Amino acid sequence: MDIKRNTKVKVTGVVNANYPHDLQFYGLPPDFDITLIELRRLAFERLKILRIIEEVTLRGRSKYSKEWTAAILNELRKQGLKKYATLFSSSGALGSSPVDEDARRDDHTSHYILRLSYCNSEQHQMWFMARELELFRLRFGHLSQEGVQSFVEQNKLSFSVVSPSEKEQIFTHLMNCTPHMTSAAVEVSEYYKFQFNTVPDLVRNRRVYLQNGVAYVPSGELLYVVLHMYRGILARGLKALVRIRASLDSDPRLGALMSGLHVAYTGRDYSNTPAKENSILPQELDQFCLESFPPCMQQLHQQLRATHHLHHSGRLRYILYLKGLGLSYEHAMEFFRDEFMQHDAKKFEKEYSYIINHSYGKVGACKQYSPYSCSKLITETLGEGSCPFKFEASNKIKALLTSHDSHTPEYVQTILQFVEAKQYCHACTKYFEMTHKVEPGSIINHPVQYFEESRQIRTGKEIKGAARKPQTTRVSVPSSQSDTSGTQRSEVENIESIDFGEDDFSDYNIS
Ligand code: SF4
Repeated sequence: MDIKRNTKVKVTGVVNANYPHDLQFYGLPPDFDITLIELRRLAFERLKILRIIEEVTLRGRSKYSKEWTAAILNELRKQGLKKYATLFSSSGALGSSPVDEDARRDDHTSHYILRLSYCNSEQHQMWFMARELELFRLRFGHLSQEGVQSFVEQNKLSFSVVSPSEKEQIFTHLMNCTPHMTSAAVEVSEYYKFQFNTVPDLVRNRRVYLQNGVAYVPSGELLYVVLHMYRGILARGLKALVRIRASLDSDPRLGALMSGLHVAYTGRDYSNTPAKENSILPQELDQFCLESFPPCMQQLHQQLRATHHLHHSGRLRYILYLKGLGLSYEHAMEFFRDEFMQHDAKKFEKEYSYIINHSYGKVGACKQYSPYSCSKLITETLGEGSCPFKFEASNKIKALLTSHDSHTPEYVQTILQFVEAKQYCHACTKYFEMTHKVEPGSIINHPVQYFEESRQIRTGKEIKGAARKPQTTRVSVPSSQSDTSGTQRSEVENIESIDFGEDDFSDYNIS
């Protein structure tokens, strides 16, 4: 895949020759030119897809159930990924419209971009593999019988079909070796012959009849065979990319994207807030802090009120946060002038007012800067306004939790478990639930999202410009156990975001 900054080269050829099926093993990398803009778009789309799968699972829906599948497909549509929702719920119909071609090509390319990004550490590989396997299984489950058949044929899976006469001869063995199947099920099922070493899981779990090194696999178990193969392809593919990845890291155009993707922010953009401007006033902040600020921003507000001072990182984080909530430029000036003037009147005009002007895009690069997302507050070094679940000692977190009337030993224990498992966004989501007596609409991954969800619950009104109304969210208690795909839960899984360089304030100098 050659990458060009501005040139867009269309993939040529007949769709069915390039992508003969909606579902792929992604055996070969894409072989066409792509612009950097498109590459970035596809990377973010894939990341969103995999995070949606993870989030739906963490909300407590039983994996691979109808409810789980429907929730994932719904969320994909809601987040503007309709073409993927259509592709993922396909029966394998071998359409050849340009839409089919684009969807399959984007599926293929986006998979490879993430594979490249996630190949550089064992932890990342495990996360990527687990999500991709879940996605594959979801998609395979939608295939019609014809779709399965053509997938198997096109991927040249090494097997042969058991003829009716052969099946009749070994019927008793098939019955005896698959006690989990009724005789009626054995009778109607198709059987396939695989070399026993290509289906180790089925052999180990005694789910197939074995004869002379051949495993007789019922059609209902084909999924596990295909999954086993796909797992092997993914594992080998990730290893093979490690060396290529090392050379990409030195490319300034791709290095940052590749190494930062796992913590990239894929949530709502809070940089543009004119629709909400004036939706909060300075005199409301004390009350909002008590009722609706997440712990990181509570700390900043309380410190500002107590000392009339914040250090540089705290100032920047808090100003941008209030801007994200809808505090107008004029009100921000008024509020911070009142506070900072009490600490150091001269400094306000000389230094502090500049950062407010800068944050509101009035000076410097005149950009619409975004409020800091959770991932920034989690991954950036310790400073005022950093995520307390990551940076505070557990006794301080415990003190914060128990200071709330709504705390219970169960909530405190669960939140501390999340902290210990480095699942800070989930700890915050549970904290929200504890303090609001209701779950937020989705996992907390942005302080502004926390505020908006909170105001909707406290007031019963929808916030202007807010993403959505709350809905049921269940966050599972963290486990040190691996999940079924072998993924060890880690910090990587919970960090949602980084906005690549757009808010780096590089043109801002502290005098
Ligand atoms: S998880 Fe996010 S919103 Fe919650 S305290 Fe940490 S940084 Fe703030």
